[in-house]
Amino acid sequence: MTNTATLEKPLSPLAIQLNEALKAQDPASPLNRQTICDRCPGAAQAIFTYERGDIYLCGHHMRANLATVLDGPVTSYWIEPSELGHIRGVGVPEQDFTRAGDGLTDA
Ligand SMILES: [Zn+2]
Repeated sequence: MTNTATLEKPLSPLAIQLNEALKAQDPASPLNRQTICDRCPGAAQAIFTYERGDIYLCGHHMRANLATVLDGPVTSYWIEPSELGHIRGVGVPEQDFTRAGDGLTDA
């Protein structure tokens, strides 16, 4: 927990949950650039799997609905780690932030 020393507030349960999920998830994305968000024309950056099917969300809609989605009966999920850097306290792995860029995914 030494890495929280520089933060002003304790990590939220959501941030802790996401940190654990990011450590465990496959580095290779199961998504491709043709996969579209279920809510808008943006490229999907996350997939949430339910018994009844999958939900695909862009970064904006994933963040807007994240707490609700993770609180539901989701069986597994994969989230593009760089999309979570906006959430305070979530440790995003070092990576190349150069964007291939379709210009659609940033709100
Ligand atoms: Zn969207």
